Amino acid sequence: MKAYQITKWGQPLEEREVPIPEPKGSEVLIKVTACGICHSDIHIWDGFFDLGGGRKVTLSERGLSLPFTMGHEPLGEVAALGPDAKGAKIGDKRVVYPWISCGECDVCQRNEELLCNDPITIGTRRDGGYAEYMIVPDAKYLVPYDGVDEGVAATAACSGITAYSALKKVNHLRADESLLIIGAGGVGLAGIGMAKAIVKAKIIVADIDPAKRAAALTAGADEVIDNAASDARKQLMGMTNGGPNGVVDFVGAPATTSFGFGVLAKGATMVVVGLFGGSMDLSISLLPMKMVNLLGSYVGTQQDLVELLQLIRDGKVTPVPLVKRQLSEAPIAIQELRDGKALGRFVLINY
Ligand SMILES: [Zn+2]
Ligand SMILES: [Zn+2]
Repeated sequence: MKAYQITKWGQPLEEREVPIPEPKGSEVLIKVTACGICHSDIHIWDGFFDLGGGRKVTLSERGLSLPFTMGHEPLGEVAALGPDAKGAKIGDKRVVYPWISCGECDVCQRNEELLCNDPITIGTRRDGGYAEYMIVPDAKYLVPYDGVDEGVAATAACSGITAYSALKKVNHLRADESLLIIGAGGVGLAGIGMAKAIVKAKIIVADIDPAKRAAALTAGADEVIDNAASDARKQLMGMTNGGPNGVVDFVGAPATTSFGFGVLAKGATMVVVGLFGGSMDLSISLLPMKMVNLLGSYVGTQQDLVELLQLIRDGKVTPVPLVKRQLSEAPIAIQELRDGKALGRFVLINY
């Protein structure tokens, strides 16, 4: 089969001919029919995440060896079952929940798998969906997506549940309160498109790009602001009662997180989701004085994926525009994403 692999960190993905993996034990072989290209794939491709102040975490020290096949938004058909596999049959069409944990440690036993220190996530630690076939460790990670477009379902597995899970952390906000969403790019736009289904508050979107602000209004934002404007803070105070009661930062850069933190109302909750990276100055005394909650959110649970697919089926989500490309174009498509040329979310298709 063909796999599109990282053979050198940051160098163009290579099309390689590799054997079709054979499912063992409870494993399931999936014939990949679609796989989203996530922005975080660019960091994986580079081989590191920026922690700010010159610090990095590299993927080789996290145990990832090359060649490696990315793709953590895969979807396809069950093609073969390991001898002990249960809960799936050949031909089943499923989206793969990729954020798989060890299943054995204390947090996994408590069903808090995302806190596991030893995850085996697909496409970031185990070979993923930039290939014709892939292995899933157990059929229990396969989720039906009937009634949902395959591209939308694939991207739900990462960008979709990343946005969904972050917004659930502010779903206590009331209708007379306000939520500031920062960043109307890929995951941010997905979040804006589902925000009304999760949060009752007024939705204000901040982005420095006028085209993205326009996209945010189309996706359901009540109001938009340019967070780079010199009077951005004043504009926001005019739209809210003493600042937003919730902020979800889908960028996670020093400028956006500082801006979001600086405008919080008393008692507000700020959720940082974006992995742009870097570091910032934080006025520590504002934490107690404003009694704010500062949270991080990373991807989402399998239950989040099931819930989100249902919201999509029910027509409660405005999907992000998708650009479908052939699997064989994976090396070009990811380069275009890095160069900022993607006009929508890339999904590789293979049929
Ligand atoms: Zn992702
Ligand atoms: Zn675990």
